[in-house]
Amino acid sequence: MSRVLVVGSGIAGLSLALDAVAAGHEVTVVTKGELGQSNTRYAQGGVAAALFPDDSVASHVSDTLAAGAGLCDPEAVRVLCAEGPDRIRELIDLGVAFDTHDGELAHGLEAAHSFPRILHAGGDATGAAISSALVARLRERDVAVHEHAFLLALRTEAGPGTRVVGAEVELDGGARVLLDADAVVLATGGAGQLYPFTSNPAAATGDGVACAARAGARLADVELYQFHPTTLALPGNFLVSEAVRGEGAVLRNAAGERFMADVDGAELAPRDVVARAVFAEMDRQGGVPVVLDATALGAEFLAARFPSIDAAVRAAGLDWAAEPVPVTPAAHYWMGGVATDLWGRTSVPGLLAIGECARTGVHGANRLASNSLLEGAVFADRAARALGDLDSWPTPGSLPGTVLADTPAAPALATSVPFTRAALQQLMWDAVGLVRDGEGLAAAVATLDAWAASAPAATDRASHEDANLLLLARACARAAADRPRSVGAHHRSDDPATARTPQLAAATR
Ligand SMILES: Cc1cc2nc3c(=O)[nH]c(=O)nc-3n(C[C@H](O)[C@H](O)[C@H](O)COP(=O)(O)OP(=O)(O)OC[C@H]3O[C@@H](n4cnc5c(N)ncnc54)[C@H](O)[C@@H]3O)c2cc1C
Repeated sequence: MSRVLVVGSGIAGLSLALDAVAAGHEVTVVTKGELGQSNTRYAQGGVAAALFPDDSVASHVSDTLAAGAGLCDPEAVRVLCAEGPDRIRELIDLGVAFDTHDGELAHGLEAAHSFPRILHAGGDATGAAISSALVARLRERDVAVHEHAFLLALRTEAGPGTRVVGAEVELDGGARVLLDADAVVLATGGAGQLYPFTSNPAAATGDGVACAARAGARLADVELYQFHPTTLALPGNFLVSEAVRGEGAVLRNAAGERFMADVDGAELAPRDVVARAVFAEMDRQGGVPVVLDATALGAEFLAARFPSIDAAVRAAGLDWAAEPVPVTPAAHYWMGGVATDLWGRTSVPGLLAIGECARTGVHGANRLASNSLLEGAVFADRAARALGDLDSWPTPGSLPGTVLADTPAAPALATSVPFTRAALQQLMWDAVGLVRDGEGLAAAVATLDAWAASAPAATDRASHEDANLLLLARACARAAADRPRSVGAHHRSDDPATARTPQLAAATR
C-alpha cells in the first residue's frame, strides 16, 4: 500500500483516486476549487469510443492518427482506443447516465471521425454528468480531500537520482503544509489561460506542468496548442461544440457564403484545419467574426440536443434557431505537457501525470475531438495500476522532450512592456497563436525571457499562477521557434509549404 497524493479533480484525478483507493492505497486529493470544478465539467460534445457494432478499434485508431498529423505515438493511440470501451462501461457502472435513443446508447458524429462514436450525456453536458457521478462516488470512499487547496511545488529528494516525495500545498485558509507521499499524481489539466481568448475556465493555468518542470521532469510537445474553431465571439468565449456541426450546422462568411464547403471534410475537417480557415476568413473580412448557421436544425431540436449551448446563446441575446451566431477560434486544448510513458510515469521517479497535463503521445499535433475525456479515463486506470510497483520506473532517456534546467538562458533584453498576465496572454495570442513565424517567435522569446529575468518572487496564488504561465509560455515559444515546419496545430507562415496563410492582426480580433 502506498501513500498517493492526487492533484486535480477532473476526470483523470477523480478516476485515478477511485481506482487507487479500490486497490488499497492511502489516497489524498488536493484540488484548487471544489471537487467538481475542472475543465472536465465544461466538456460538452462527449466522449469517443469504439463501442458500436459497425465501428472498430482500428477505425478509431486510424482517425486519431490521421488527425494527429504524423506526430502521434501509435502504441499510445492503440492503448487509448482499445481500452476506451472498457473504461466507458466502468463510467456507466459508476453512475454516468449517457443519453440513450430507443433504449440504446445514443452516439453522434464529430469532426474527423469516420463513424458516429461520440457518447454524450444531458445532450451537451457530458463533462458535468461525468464529473458529478465521479465526485459522488469519491465522497462515498475513504479518501482525504482538500478543496480550495493549491499545489505550490513538488518536493524532491536527491539520492542516486531525484525522486518526488510529496508536495508543498497551500490549504484553504492560507496555511502552507508539506504533504509526504510515495507517489504524486498530477491531474491538473491544461493551460488555456496562456491566451486571452480561451474556452477554458480561469483555473486552467498549467500549474502542474510548471511544477513538474521545476522538479526536473521532461516536457514534450508544449508548442502544440489546439484552438477550437467555434466559440461565441463574445466575452467569455463560450464553446459551441463540434457536435453542432456534426448535426449539420455550417460556417458562413459575412457575405453568407459557406467557405468550408470545398475543403476535404467541409465543416467536419480536423479542428486545426477548420480553426485556421475561420481565422483566414476573419482576416479577409477585416476581423469580423464568421457565423455558425444552425438555423436548419430548428428550435426544438437545438434546445433538446444542446440544452447548455442553447441556454448560453439565448442568455447572450441571440436566437440561433432564427439567425446564424458569430463565432471565433479560441485556445482550447493542450496536446503537450509532462512527458509520460504508457503508465503515466514521468521522467522523475515518484511523479506520474495523467489527463490533459500529460503528454502521452495520443494526440500528436492535433487532438481528435472527444478523445481527451477518454484519455483521462484510460490513463488514470493505467497509472493506478502502475502505483502497485513504484520501484519499477522508465529511464528518463526513454521519454521524449526536454528538461527545463537544460534550456540555455538567453541574454535578457530590456522590454518596455511590463509583465502582467494580460500582456503575456496578448503576446502568446499574437506570436504563439494559430499562425506563427520565426521573427515573431524570436521576439516573443526575448520578451518572455526579459520578463522572467525581472519577475518578482511569487507570493500569493495569483502570482504563483502568473509565474507558472510565464514558465510555460517560455517553454511553448521556444519549442515553437525550434519547430520550423508546420504540423497540425503548429502552423508556421514562414514554412514554404504553408506560407500563404494570412496573418490575422490581433487588433482585429
Ligand atoms: C468548454 C470545453 C469543452 C470540452 N469538450 C470536450 C468534449 O466534448 N470531449 C472531450 O473529450 N474533451 C472536451 N474538452 C476537453 C476536456 O474537457 C479536458 O481535456 C479534460 O476534461 C481534462 O481533464 P483532466 O482531468 O485532465 O483535467 P481537468 O478536468 O481540467 O481538471 C484539472 C484539475 O486540476 C485542478 N488543479 C489545477 N491546478 C491546480 C493546483 N495548482 N492545485 C490544485 N489543483 C489544481 C483543477 O482545479 C481541476 O480540478 C472540453 C474542454 C472545454 C474547456
